[in-house]
Amino acid sequence: MGKVLVIGAGGVSTVVVHKMASLPDVFTEVLLASRTKSKCDAIASRIGKDNIKTAQIDADNVPELRKLINSFKPDLVVNVALPYQDLHIMDACLAEGVSYLDTANYEPPEEAKFEYSWQWAYRDRYRNAGITAILGCGFDPGVTSIFTAYAAKHHFDEIHYLDIVDCNAGDHGKPFATNFNPEINIREVTQKGKYFENGEWIYTSPHEIHKPLNYPEIGPKESYLIYHEELESLVKNFPTIKRARFWMTFGQEYLTHLRVIQNIGMAGIEPVMFDGREIVPIKFLKAVLPDPGELGENYKGQTSIGCRIRGIKDGKEKTYYIYNNCSHEAAYKETGAQGVSYTTGVPAAIGAMLYLKGIWKKPGVFNVEEFNPDPFMEQLNKLGLPWVELHDVDLEL
Ligand code: NDP
Repeated sequence: MGKVLVIGAGGVSTVVVHKMASLPDVFTEVLLASRTKSKCDAIASRIGKDNIKTAQIDADNVPELRKLINSFKPDLVVNVALPYQDLHIMDACLAEGVSYLDTANYEPPEEAKFEYSWQWAYRDRYRNAGITAILGCGFDPGVTSIFTAYAAKHHFDEIHYLDIVDCNAGDHGKPFATNFNPEINIREVTQKGKYFENGEWIYTSPHEIHKPLNYPEIGPKESYLIYHEELESLVKNFPTIKRARFWMTFGQEYLTHLRVIQNIGMAGIEPVMFDGREIVPIKFLKAVLPDPGELGENYKGQTSIGCRIRGIKDGKEKTYYIYNNCSHEAAYKETGAQGVSYTTGVPAAIGAMLYLKGIWKKPGVFNVEEFNPDPFMEQLNKLGLPWVELHDVDLEL
């Protein structure tokens, strides 16, 4: 059906390419390209299918990207490198007239700040070029945004309160590790908290607001209010929302490590001089921390991510909880990657599939909740991320 260029060869990419290889009727050819070609080769050889080729690419180099796109001629470019590459890859796609999909919004390397404005600025250019950009097609953002769209379509006349709850109750056996790229992860969880209420953004100190929440099949876990990127687009696309918040669980050991890392300056993004050369502390830290892509082997337990929603249906107030639980062990057994890579990679492959099938294809730049959620929800059940709905339950929030 179509050719896809996948950029990046980390944990998420491992799952994306694995799923694509299992659907050869949809993904007839996959070119996996990344900064370090040997990592692409390792993924391709583990999967062992003929329809995966590999290449070296510096995705910050737009002319190089254009050359690769022009020679392979993909129908879609799937960006599972880092958020720093988003705009360069979007530029190359625009210049070559090819559609684009990613799982995380742009973040400038020199500032720990992420927002959609940079990518939304491409709307007119993508629309005029007749190509599609699908933004944030992982789990959160991604599935959580689609859960919200599904709830709005089928269960509510108006959504008033949205709480996205993200629990990782897994244990990888390491004293400290991050579940996806350490640099991006630490930048995300150490920033100020922020939530939306009555048309305004309210800021909190990092991890200031927290409470125990009960997660299905897991039990109570301390959950911390943090800012997460899908809140920005969801409150725009569902304007009846009065309050939108995001909660993530952290263990005490993780928070203690994080505090020490910050206190000793290892989370810094400004270059420092070391032995006569400049290094960026957080990039050095990434080099010594466990590779998230390698955590899978001993990872036990599961993730539970979902949306807790309160609103109005037929004039009556109702509550609704939709979630997926994903087992790290099952994810590893299937793909060789842990659950966080799995829950991100499967939705990216589904988004790519819906694009190639022409179901999620329209000119412009879109967040995933702007597409029809139904075909996506159907594929989640088929491709390893089944979801559960609970109606009129205590949301605890
Ligand atoms: P990894 O760090 O494991 O992988 C990133 C890959 O990108 C590496 O292979 C790296 O190359 C490659 N890369 C980095 N810079 C360049 C460049 N300039 N040119 C080409 N390749 C480059 O990250 P993850 O797989 O954990 O995460 C991938 C993405 O998924 C991130 O953007 C992350 O934010 C996002 N994500 C989204 C989630 C969601 O639910 N929406 C959840 C988790 C992650 P090298 O191997 O040489 O370092």
